[in-house]
Amino acid sequence: MRAWYLSEDADHPEMTSVDESSLPDGEVTIAVTHSSINYKDALALLGKAPIARKKPMVLGIDAAGTVLSDTTGTLTAGTPVVVNGGGLSETRWGGYAERIVVPADLVIPLPGRFSPADAMAIGTAGYTAALCVSALEEAGVKPEDGTVLVTGATGGVGSVAVSLLSKKGFAVAAATGRTDERDYLVDLGAKEIVDRSELQGKLRPLGKQRWAAAVDVVGGTVLANVLSMMNYGGKVAATGLAGGMDLPASVAPFILRGVHLLGVDSVQAPREKRESSWRLLEEVLPPEHLKHIASTVSLAEVKDTAAKLLDGKIKGRVVVSVAA
Ligand code: NDP
Repeated sequence: MRAWYLSEDADHPEMTSVDESSLPDGEVTIAVTHSSINYKDALALLGKAPIARKKPMVLGIDAAGTVLSDTTGTLTAGTPVVVNGGGLSETRWGGYAERIVVPADLVIPLPGRFSPADAMAIGTAGYTAALCVSALEEAGVKPEDGTVLVTGATGGVGSVAVSLLSKKGFAVAAATGRTDERDYLVDLGAKEIVDRSELQGKLRPLGKQRWAAAVDVVGGTVLANVLSMMNYGGKVAATGLAGGMDLPASVAPFILRGVHLLGVDSVQAPREKRESSWRLLEEVLPPEHLKHIASTVSLAEVKDTAAKLLDGKIKGRVVVSVAA
């Protein structure tokens, strides 16, 4: 099978031919037709962060396709399925290959309205956006509370978060470094565009109160500033580090305004959260938005595309056609 493969003695992966008999043992074997490019994939493809925790490794944190076999007897051959995270590309061989073998617990049957290509237009980024929206709703955030801010809004998580929140009736403010993409964000339902530079200034412990809730994919100074600008009792779902891993924040928003910081992880999320996120996506994400956010590349093109993604030159989501 063709695969993006990180061999034992390499720092960078290469696209090569891997003998299918070297696939690790496991429960469900899937014929992968599509994968996607997430921020973490881009870091791994370009050797910018040690994503693979063992080698050799096949990269790709997402996979969609059809079941070939299931030793647990739960899934029948031919069932369309999706796998997000769960150690793919870290501790388990991932989706940039024509076959994967994974534990049955990680395999989610695709909701009927989504093809494998649709599932990868959503991918880990979109499923994480759904986790963030659920985290805010579980914390009690309602449309009548006020505007919800989404940072990194033209990116994968951001685009899907803007769409889901707007369709659920929230007024969405989309923060972006690419204000020339206003039309793209307005088409996804954003009511207001916030220039990213407004969130990158010198940190004040407390700023003017602007938002009832936020989905943040940027971290660093941006997250610290967002916290300082939340309304009293505001809720922030933090899930990313596109702008930095640090958090140079003050405790003032927490102790003087009762702001809540909610951490959201997709990789180890339990099965019930995976299933409920895919249900949310099925119910809420409009087909026209899915089309609007997606572009497609071949397996051979993923590394060049990853470089563009880290360079801020990709908007929305990139589907990888594994067979192409
Ligand atoms: P994308 O590259 O698609 O989007 C990231 C967006 O962040 C960019 O489009 C850009 O948006 C903005 N951005 C990029 N660099 C900077 C910067 N230096 N400062 C401020 N903003 C920046 O990535 P994804 O949407 O796939 O992922 C976003 C983040 O979420 C990543 O850090 C990723 O690792 C994390 N993530 C975490 C998950 C988890 O389980 N915790 C799961 C999925 C993603 P714009 O140009 O509009 O400003």
